Amino acid sequence: MCFFFFLKYWAVHVNGKVCKDPKLVEADDFFFSGLHLPGNTSNAIRFQITSAIIHGFNTLGIAIGRADFAPNGFSPPHTHPRGSEIVLVLEGSIEIGFVTSHPENRLFTKILKVGDFFVVPQGLVHFQRNVGEANAATITAFSSQFPGLIRVSDASFGSDPKIPSDLLAKAFRIDEKTGSQIQKRFSG
Ligand code: MN
Repeated sequence: MCFFFFLKYWAVHVNGKVCKDPKLVEADDFFFSGLHLPGNTSNAIRFQITSAIIHGFNTLGIAIGRADFAPNGFSPPHTHPRGSEIVLVLEGSIEIGFVTSHPENRLFTKILKVGDFFVVPQGLVHFQRNVGEANAATITAFSSQFPGLIRVSDASFGSDPKIPSDLLAKAFRIDEKTGSQIQKRFSG
């Protein structure tokens, strides 16, 4: 009974796509078209990620996507818990930086132009922003088929349910009122 349940309802997910029966695999499982197309950057941070998720990445430990930045667009501080990242600039110019772990918290940062790439080690907090006057775009590749994304601000102030505001206030060295005001901006 349990085995049946496992087979029927508990398909293995490695990167958000189920592992397919090898007999059913076809060329399109290893194919994606569209990373030449800009993502829609009409949002508060003027930034969009296009993830190319395919069955064929499963178990290979790789993934690729595209990021688009309108002028003043940025990718807020975040981490990918399961993969290192390569950021290759396709268009425009971006600033990128990552911070090493506790206790050094050393910032490594660089301005990139077309054809440049920068590597972000697995799990470290990093950010990017468009420093040009036109649009910018990057190809982002990962050493995992499911690198994950944790935005520091969303995880801290936008969790559901909320992290106790007095704890957040002490952690960010702000008063509790400010802490709950920030939490309200991340809700809904
Ligand atoms: Mn990243």
